[in-house]
Amino acid sequence: MKAHAADPRSCPTCGDPLKFEILDDERFLVAWSCVNCGLIRTTEPV
Ligand SMILES: [Zn+2]
Repeated sequence: MKAHAADPRSCPTCGDPLKFEILDDERFLVAWSCVNCGLIRTTEPV
């Protein structure tokens, strides 16, 4: 199921909204975590 794949702020597994946490200010490294299923993904700017 890829219904929510277009929105990076939605959990790809369960579709719940992710909450983000800034890991590194200087590099804009952000972790997105799902409170429902515990998925964590990190994003870095290209
Ligand atoms: Zn989830």
